[in-house]
Amino acid sequence: MEIYIILGILVIVFVLFAAGGKKRTSTKKKGKAAEQYYKTVTYGKKSGLKGMQGEDIIQEKLSELSQNYTVFNDVYVKVNGHSVQIDHVIISVYGIFVIETKNYTGSIYGTDDAEYWSKYIHGNEYKFRNPLKQNYYHVKSLQDILCLPGKVFIPIVVFTDNVDIRCETREFVIYVNQLKSTVCGFRNPVLSPAMVNYAVNKLNTSLILDKDREKKHADSINQYITEKNNLINQGICPRCKSKLIERNGRYGRFLGCSNYPQCTFTKEL
Ligand SMILES: [Zn+2]
Repeated sequence: MEIYIILGILVIVFVLFAAGGKKRTSTKKKGKAAEQYYKTVTYGKKSGLKGMQGEDIIQEKLSELSQNYTVFNDVYVKVNGHSVQIDHVIISVYGIFVIETKNYTGSIYGTDDAEYWSKYIHGNEYKFRNPLKQNYYHVKSLQDILCLPGKVFIPIVVFTDNVDIRCETREFVIYVNQLKSTVCGFRNPVLSPAMVNYAVNKLNTSLILDKDREKKHADSINQYITEKNNLINQGICPRCKSKLIERNGRYGRFLGCSNYPQCTFTKEL
């Protein structure tokens, strides 16, 4: 009899221990994944395989930078209620580099101020949004988040594929193999180490992580559905807040808005 009690206790202890151990491991993994989020490239944001390869190449190049540079890849932040995605942000005492990557082929023509740039492939022209303007918006967003003067930001547009850059711009429009030397070419400190620390922490806490983002989106949809059903249950039209009335239709009884025909909300009963 006693032996069974002892065995039972042993089994319970073992199960509790195993569950605890398992829980710890998964939490650790989760934490690590979140921590690595800004250190690694996250796929799926860019369209298609080409984008992935391009981001991958850039990430590899940036990993060659010394520890004095903190690299954020595939940055997602919210500024004034709008989500902003930035390919790469590098924070250092020499400035904050804001990188927009383009994975195109062909010959690229563009200027600082043009709304659209052109790429020519086999004599055909394809227009695309001026990446400098796109990146200017990213810089502005980061400026808002970090509360730092515009002069510490260095926007860079990088082309990662076999392109022929024929742009006349004041801003940096470079090939991927020029990226490291361009970044390392800045040798004058413009931020103190304390400011760099502040900027890294601030950006880190401002990041929107993928899962969070999807969850928030799902939550807001669920909330909308709940609110809508609550109103209907109270006999209120969720669209215009007028009274709902029961009507007989061709397909049976239904709830319709008393504000018809201005409001055409209906719900089957
Ligand atoms: Zn209505």
